[in-house]
Amino acid sequence: MASPLFDSHMHTPLCGHATGTPREYAQAALDAGLDGVCFTDHAPMPAWYDAPWRMRLDQLDEYVQEVRAVQEAFRGRLDVRLGLEADFHPGTERFVADLLARYDWDYVIGSVHYLGAWGFDNPEFVAEYDWRALPDLYRDYYALVEGAARSGLFDSIGHLDLPKKFGHRDPDGVYALHALDVIADAGLSLDFNTAGWRKPVAEAYPAPDLTRLAAERGIPFVLGSDAHAPAEVGFRFGEALKQIQDVNGRVVTYQGRVRHG
Ligand SMILES: [Zn+2]
Ligand SMILES: [Zn+2]
Repeated sequence: MASPLFDSHMHTPLCGHATGTPREYAQAALDAGLDGVCFTDHAPMPAWYDAPWRMRLDQLDEYVQEVRAVQEAFRGRLDVRLGLEADFHPGTERFVADLLARYDWDYVIGSVHYLGAWGFDNPEFVAEYDWRALPDLYRDYYALVEGAARSGLFDSIGHLDLPKKFGHRDPDGVYALHALDVIADAGLSLDFNTAGWRKPVAEAYPAPDLTRLAAERGIPFVLGSDAHAPAEVGFRFGEALKQIQDVNGRVVTYQGRVRHG
């Protein structure tokens, strides 16, 4: 039997930059023939960090209640799970740990979106790339990814090679390779994130060669569209499965923070 197909990276309007109700995301998943979804909206962070792009701490309960309501409404038709996309940013680990202890999460993605104060995946700040040497940028980025993997806070690493989003590809790959070793040692999975196919780089995260190197290290993949609108749910999952299967990779899901598949 083929393993059940889940979209395990989806947002809700609570983050301030997504459209459509959680029910509409679930319905879109059902219409796309998926077996389940895991909502992973941007987790609250300390007030000084990236506030416009995430729910506030006092909205966390509302988020959990909304996902629980969708879970009830779709019971027996679609398996709806509760997750978060949390950020790894040195100094915020205790805040995140406290948040994760408050509810029974199914799955927590750890993502790096900032190098220092620079939100490097924000199109508004793309000019900053001109000031940076790409080898140094990727060295610093993957050092943070390794910190995320070692933190013990997360089940997977979000969109592994994110700095390529606008076309600034990693010139050597040595830091990525080391990060994959750390991720494998820590027993984490990778968010196989199809949003990259909607961005200028026109490539999923991770890239095909990183997908192969991850699979060789036994790192499994969690499929996610990173949908910020219902129409994006399950985005190009056929191609995603092919890229993973081409390298004998394994697709998994999480429930109660336990890996299945
Ligand atoms: Zn987002
Ligand atoms: Zn992200």
